[in-house]
Amino acid sequence: MIVNEIFYSLQGEGFLAGVPSVFVRLTGCPLRCRWCDTKYAWPKQAGRQYSVTEIVEQVQQWPCRFVVITGGEPMINSDLPQLVRQLKAAGKHVTIETAGIAYTPDMPCDLMSISPKLSNSVPDDAKSAAMHEAARLDLAVLRELIDNYDYQLKFVLDSQADLPEIETTIEKLGNVDRDKVMLMPQAATRDELLAKSPIVADMCKQAGFAFGQRLQVLLWNNQRGT
Ligand code: SF4
Repeated sequence: MIVNEIFYSLQGEGFLAGVPSVFVRLTGCPLRCRWCDTKYAWPKQAGRQYSVTEIVEQVQQWPCRFVVITGGEPMINSDLPQLVRQLKAAGKHVTIETAGIAYTPDMPCDLMSISPKLSNSVPDDAKSAAMHEAARLDLAVLRELIDNYDYQLKFVLDSQADLPEIETTIEKLGNVDRDKVMLMPQAATRDELLAKSPIVADMCKQAGFAFGQRLQVLLWNNQRGT
């Protein structure tokens, strides 16, 4: 597998926000979201080749039970099931961070952390925008992920105008546990996060969804390795 980085930090997002966790960032993502904060992990070759056993050894250098496999888009990696199985065999709690664009069955992960992409993430250039639009929302894949894994759904909001699109997406999906949905402000910097958070908090109260923290932005201003 090509690994972009392995580091120890706090989980910044989701219902496990604040929990000390080791992050394994795999390379490659076809979506090219406009506001992506890990563009350095987009190219397939943006890292170094590791065996699954080497990754598990690296992870074990920290006395930490929680592991987050992220990207890029980890679900497009064919060796992911093997990595998850070995991490589970080592006694780890495994979260997979995904945009929900690919489904793989029978992985013993503990939490599928799904962040479906809205139209606010469409890239500016026409070629990338076309690729993004074709791939960003696959309702059948999302359904499989929700039906077969413990999950959370994290939506990134740019403005109040995004809320109807989220409700429509949930309606189209059908049978979603609204207690597992959270809204997060789109923010590349701490200042942007602090400015947008009260607006998103109001939307959470209005819609009955949880507010999603982004501790890596709040605490470390989105520095790499956090
Ligand atoms: S899906 Fe995630 S990693 Fe891929 S471009 Fe979008 S924000 Fe970045």
